[in-house]
Amino acid sequence: MGKTYNNMTFKYAGSMAAIVLVFGNFVACGSQFYQVSVEDDFEPTEESIAANPDMNDPESTLYGIHAPSGWQKLPIPFRFGKDLNEEQKIHFLAAIKTWEWAVGKNLFEFAGTHEQTTGDSFTDLYSSLDDQINGQYLDNDWAKTNKDDAVLATTIWNNGSSGAEIAKADIRFNNEYYVIGDSLQLSAEGNKEVVDMQSLALHELGHLLGLAHIDVNVDSYSIMNPSLFIGEGLTSRKISRGDIERIQQIYGCEGDACDIDSLVLELEKDTEAEEMTATAQSWLASNTPQVEPSK
Ligand SMILES: [Zn+2]
Repeated sequence: MGKTYNNMTFKYAGSMAAIVLVFGNFVACGSQFYQVSVEDDFEPTEESIAANPDMNDPESTLYGIHAPSGWQKLPIPFRFGKDLNEEQKIHFLAAIKTWEWAVGKNLFEFAGTHEQTTGDSFTDLYSSLDDQINGQYLDNDWAKTNKDDAVLATTIWNNGSSGAEIAKADIRFNNEYYVIGDSLQLSAEGNKEVVDMQSLALHELGHLLGLAHIDVNVDSYSIMNPSLFIGEGLTSRKISRGDIERIQQIYGCEGDACDIDSLVLELEKDTEAEEMTATAQSWLASNTPQVEPSK
């Protein structure tokens, strides 16, 4: 602690345009921090563009949504690649719990950990979609995804019978160039900067659930803004009112979640992420089946 921002270095200067972010949301404890573009983590399919031509129209209620019908079938079964550590799993699960809290429904169902499969098991980015498993993978050979080295992670999916719905998805994390986990605990390793798993997973799960990127000029608090601060001690584990409205546009709401004003009041207390982390921790302790992937 104690360092100032005077020596901050913007590694990816190209992504710095037109960013309005409130630094009060971020806690800096040491290392340099960077704002990284996550624009390239998401490529809408041709089917999804055809299904929702209003995806990029801020005036539309379907703005920022790539799959207006959401998943073909709920809950979404998901698995972890075998090399995710406990901390990565807990913070990924906490991000799941936040999206579920935003709609008041169970959206996901844990289907265990792959005993064999990692991101490195696949020959390229899209081949991980062939196994019918919704997997969360660490990739140690990022070049084969054909994404830039700076891309933090990417979400890929298959649409269902219509482009408005999702049938299958994977998230691939760039484990080659980043240290991904709890940014409040981890340290950078050489050139590998720390990325907060919960913050990154919130964004990638947004894509997985059907959300597209949100322009900072439309909603600067959205977790779906196409950039993320990374570095030791930097987190962004929070969704915005707009994120709640958009996810409810797809999945509706149940119970207390239908009162969006009260959800926003909860968010303003700034304890939601901690609560979700604690929930995820105890939940994972009682849900750890080891399952081989079915082909
Ligand atoms: Zn994205």
